[in-house]
Amino acid sequence: MTLEKLIEGNENFKNNKFPALEEELLNLVKYGQSPEIMFIGCSDSRVTPDLMLNTKPGDMFILRNVGNFVPPFKHDEDFHGSAAAIEFAIAVLKVKHIIICGHSHCGACKSLYEEIPDNDSFIHIRTWLKLGIKAKERTLKNKKFTTAEEMYRATERNSIRYQLDNLLTYPDVVKQLEAGEVQIHGWYYDIATGAINYYDKENDIFKPLSEMKI
Ligand SMILES: [Zn+2]
Repeated sequence: MTLEKLIEGNENFKNNKFPALEEELLNLVKYGQSPEIMFIGCSDSRVTPDLMLNTKPGDMFILRNVGNFVPPFKHDEDFHGSAAAIEFAIAVLKVKHIIICGHSHCGACKSLYEEIPDNDSFIHIRTWLKLGIKAKERTLKNKKFTTAEEMYRATERNSIRYQLDNLLTYPDVVKQLEAGEVQIHGWYYDIATGAINYYDKENDIFKPLSEMKI
């Protein structure tokens, strides 16, 4: 992909795709957005929320960051971008669902097993990746892996379990959850097949999304 292609792409979008969306978009401009879904996904370029879920403008409030990690709630005045998005989704948009969607072949999860340079070029990555340590620890307790790839896939799934736990450190998320106003979900997208599995907390396993009971 080049910058020229992006310019061409926008021309194509304006001329061919925008007209079909125009009425809906004008309504979204007039009345504002009111998405029922907050989607938390990885910044990875191969994760394509609107494409893989067939959604339109206005459907999902999307937060993407390295590894689809959820930093635990911290009551201070630092610049917490991910926390601000979660707050906004709960307090203003009043979303009905928060989906934490991990994915296969995630570079963030793989890098939990690699040495990250201890210098200023990686200072924020080093800190951010600490949010994956529990997933790595849980994965390493299981010695059954025959390949590193298998171990990475397990780490990606385990991470979703812990990011869901971190979401529960947000007092307003817990409040809305207990009031039945919001549901939280852990999903896992396989970039090699397009399939999504969901986390069944009761049985502590991942199952095909089509089997999810609403
Ligand atoms: Zn990723």
